[in-house]
Amino acid sequence: METKACRRCRRLFQYIGGDMYCPICKDELENLFKEVKTYIYEHKNCSIPEVIKATGCKEANIEQWVREERLILNDNTGIKFFCEKCGTQIFSGRFCAKCKAETANMLSGIYKEEKPQAAPKRFNDAKHNEMYTMEMRRGRKQ
Ligand SMILES: [Zn+2]
Ligand SMILES: [Zn+2]
Repeated sequence: METKACRRCRRLFQYIGGDMYCPICKDELENLFKEVKTYIYEHKNCSIPEVIKATGCKEANIEQWVREERLILNDNTGIKFFCEKCGTQIFSGRFCAKCKAETANMLSGIYKEEKPQAAPKRFNDAKHNEMYTMEMRRGRKQ
């Protein structure tokens, strides 16, 4: 186990992995998260400065929670986040559904290129040849 300084309060604590926050800050952030979430749902069209003023959180906290998809916004809030790729308004995460799908397609495209379609056929042929050879061998033995 390692001793590390908390990212938030600089207190030293036994680091066991995950976020670099001490157990006290972790608890506080958890409570803050719940407070922010409740505030956003209860106050329609609230803005980030309003939430900060009411809960004492930081803008970076809100951004982090939204990008981590922990905090899911809705049409009723004045807090707006946008897709990092195309700028469409999104309610959580980093990308809109369209860009997410495009990225997934791109990744599977690369995957397909790396493994040519002829490969499975070749595999079958090899298997067939192997079976054929085995039959031949068997034939010879008999
Ligand atoms: Zn701390
Ligand atoms: Zn997008």
